[in-house]
Amino acid sequence: MVSRVIPVDTFDLVIFGGTGDLARRKIFPGLYRRFLAGQMPEGSRIIGAARADLTEAAFRATVREAIDEFVPEARKDAAVIDAFIGRIGYVSIDAKGTGGWPDLRAMMRENVVRAFYFSVAPVLFGDIAERLHEHGIADAWSRIVVEKPFGRDLASARALNETLAKHFTEAQIYRIDHYLGKETVQNLMAVRFANILFEPLWKAEYIDHVQITVAETVGVEGRGAYYDKSGAMRDMVQNHLMQLLCLIAMEPPYHFDPDAVRDEKLKVIRALDAVKPEDIVRGQYLAGGGQEGYVAHSENPASKTESYIALKVHISNWRWKGTPFYLRTGKRLRARASEIAITFKEPPHSIFDDAEGWRENVLVIRLQPNEGMNLMMMIKEPGPGGMRLMQVPLDMAFADALGADAEDIPDAYERLIMDVIRGNQTLFMRGDEVEAAWAWADPIIQGWEERGMKPQGYDPGSSGPEDALMLMHKDGRRWREIRE
Ligand code: NAP
Repeated sequence: MVSRVIPVDTFDLVIFGGTGDLARRKIFPGLYRRFLAGQMPEGSRIIGAARADLTEAAFRATVREAIDEFVPEARKDAAVIDAFIGRIGYVSIDAKGTGGWPDLRAMMRENVVRAFYFSVAPVLFGDIAERLHEHGIADAWSRIVVEKPFGRDLASARALNETLAKHFTEAQIYRIDHYLGKETVQNLMAVRFANILFEPLWKAEYIDHVQITVAETVGVEGRGAYYDKSGAMRDMVQNHLMQLLCLIAMEPPYHFDPDAVRDEKLKVIRALDAVKPEDIVRGQYLAGGGQEGYVAHSENPASKTESYIALKVHISNWRWKGTPFYLRTGKRLRARASEIAITFKEPPHSIFDDAEGWRENVLVIRLQPNEGMNLMMMIKEPGPGGMRLMQVPLDMAFADALGADAEDIPDAYERLIMDVIRGNQTLFMRGDEVEAAWAWADPIIQGWEERGMKPQGYDPGSSGPEDALMLMHKDGRRWREIRE
């Protein structure tokens, strides 16, 4: 099996923030890999844009360094790198000023796709949109790509949507949530909607609860000042975990089409109940094991920002009424592991005497690492002496199933950028979706801010705060162990 390369039209891609961290670590290495795969048509160009006064040669040298640092050795080919670098241009531009814009205008060509990637601080999104319009650089077919965070509450997200809407239609705006670009996240839709097996059971009648975990081992060091204004709820739950929840909970769209998929996700977000304060646990990692704690990293000794959050969420619709979704995400935890676990209910009646041996069926979808699926099944314990039960995993690691092709899977940014060029918005958030997610998150955040609540400390390398365990214990359930 060979990964298919879907041709795209010739394009000019302008990357505002072309000298920044995201461009270096993800965007340029990703574009190089697409070039290597043969997906960048003859004549396509990438133009970096930032304030730094760099010559084209100097900028190209920074891109070469980024490829050297962030592309695996096996994917480096000197001739291909040279050819790729030959496609790169640079313009010195100030998002807030007038300098550079006429130069960029002069570089644009007719009859090619024009895409503008806003890989800069969100305060500049509006300025760039405005100037692209003012200087006649964007046309009716141009696309803009907007990085996260998209607002920090409903009011700011709405204001940003309104600013962008002054110059671009919704069909031109690509709001990135890189989680949606992950292969395994898209696989959630394939598993649900390309198999008949699960769908009949995919409802409150048969599903006891769902756990969504995104655990990281890293702390906030290096970006503590930024993170301290955000926290796990804004940084992870409102966007990434919300998207995962939507893909698990949504109704089947009539077609795998951008608006059909996004309509269904929006319905899920709108059906979310308000979360009760007792169903929220916030944590902050402590110092330990010779490493500094959160407050040292955030440089704010009085910080009340959470580096961990666990929530119990209910969806009020016919499919899910009564089935809780437990979400948790945090930093400095025991392992780096993201997974969705769907725990089924017990059979209506047991014909076996071995009630103690019985365990629930659990479908675990591992997003990272070791992407794959695991279905926990009951079988007979081997041997004579009656019918005793035991649980075994039906384990499918995608890397085993896909063989060598698993290494060729594009990373989230590569896939998403190519979707922009193809004009496919399915894996991008629509404006109303982002606003609905903030409308749900805002009162939760306001609740703890008004009460001045401090997060509970937790040990680095643990599974999070004690109260998070209680969140499930009080419902007679347990979190799955966090492990790679
Ligand atoms: P960064 O390293 O601080 O880079 C910012 C870039 O913006 C630089 O190229 C900078 O170059 C340019 N810039 C700053 N002010 C400008 C202005 N007035 N006009 C034109 N260019 C200007 O930021 P980053 O980490 O790459 O993040 C970029 C965006 O991606 C942010 O929205 C961030 O939230 C988002 N994001 C980043 C990551 C990540 O891993 N880094 C992950 C997810 C989302 P000059 O100073 O030369 O102008």
